[in-house]
Amino acid sequence: FDYVKNFDPELAAAMDDELQRQRDHIELIASENIVSEAVMAAMGSHLTNKYAEGYPGKRYYGGCEYVDVVETLAIERAKKLFNCDYVNIQPHSGAQANMAVLFAMIEPGDTIMGMSLAHGGHLTHGSPVNMSGKYFNVVPYGTDDNGYIDYDEVLKIAKKCKPKLIIAGASAYPRAIDFKKFRKIADEVDAYLFVDMAHIAGLVAAGVHMSPIPYADVVTTTTHKTLRGPRGGMILCNQEAAEQFNFNKAVFPGMQGGPLMHVIAAKAVCLKEALDDSFKEYGKNVVDNAQALAKGLMDRGFNLVSGGTDNHLMLVDLQNMGVTGKDCEKLLDAANITCNKNAIPNDPKSPFVTSGIRIGTPAITTRGMKTEDMDAIAEAISLLVKDVDANKAKAMEIVKTLTDKYPLY
Ligand code: PLP
Repeated sequence: FDYVKNFDPELAAAMDDELQRQRDHIELIASENIVSEAVMAAMGSHLTNKYAEGYPGKRYYGGCEYVDVVETLAIERAKKLFNCDYVNIQPHSGAQANMAVLFAMIEPGDTIMGMSLAHGGHLTHGSPVNMSGKYFNVVPYGTDDNGYIDYDEVLKIAKKCKPKLIIAGASAYPRAIDFKKFRKIADEVDAYLFVDMAHIAGLVAAGVHMSPIPYADVVTTTTHKTLRGPRGGMILCNQEAAEQFNFNKAVFPGMQGGPLMHVIAAKAVCLKEALDDSFKEYGKNVVDNAQALAKGLMDRGFNLVSGGTDNHLMLVDLQNMGVTGKDCEKLLDAANITCNKNAIPNDPKSPFVTSGIRIGTPAITTRGMKTEDMDAIAEAISLLVKDVDANKAKAMEIVKTLTDKYPLY
């Protein structure tokens, strides 16, 4: 960082400000985390200099003997961590991993099912504004009135529309997903099952969420959410699907050019960290913290979609609090608590306003916060939502006490 400071003080100032923001804010964005210094060092390394189109042992460039080792280490660690036969570690992002999978398995115009964005799905699961929605015929499914996936309803829709492929996985779903049930549904209608475990990959790695690997034809993930690695994506599957579909070809040259070798090195570090026993403890703590925070909020009159959480996140339905998701995001930000506005199922408000917020515990758990700290966070949120003018100073004090107690970097 000193190199940046010396050469480009203008940029360094903004980077410094961002570091300070991360230090003095409580980060509740469910898709974010805080990487280790080792992950960061690998990412900011000389490996960025290397072109390595192709795969280990079969590159289109010379001088790849050492980056071959790096990529192979990352692949083998991912295979071991998730207990699968095949991994492509090159996708630059989760979205690109998802596109590569769709283009490897089905043809444009085919019918797919995915969870609707409005009910917690991701853009790449068939939203009309995304390539997945433009290239495929999408039939969405959602959650029931209690905020749970209704597997009978998913089957009913599947029987009617006969999809080639069903996507399971979400960006804002607070409950455990039953991949075994999704497998059964896919088998009944003769569809492929594609699981996007981006949000819960760290929980799967830690053994606190059912793994999709034994049930899905293919699984994708991001590496930067609960898995706590660099920003990026990954594709995983077992032998049969690896032989049937050419995911390697779909990623390169289908979707991308040269792999980001510095990011792949950082993925290797993150996977080594996740293989350590301490990561199991981390995953358990993320879920325990989410449940403690959920309880703290519900004790203070907040309604949670589905009445709680099984994983790392919760969706707060703010309708009884007389505040929109957009306003709530701002209220919390005023006292250094970061979250994001989020639509709740059947939200009457637009996606730019929303009636909810999504909050998650991956980043604060990495900082070391424990279940006993969650009630203080719930209290700060409650103070701000109920009367920001009267309570802002008190909420800020709570935030400062916690951020001082758990220093960052
Ligand atoms: N899949 C899911 C379920 C996600 O929540 C996200 C990101 O929020 C992605 C895919 C896309 O990841 P990326 O932002 O790396 O493209």
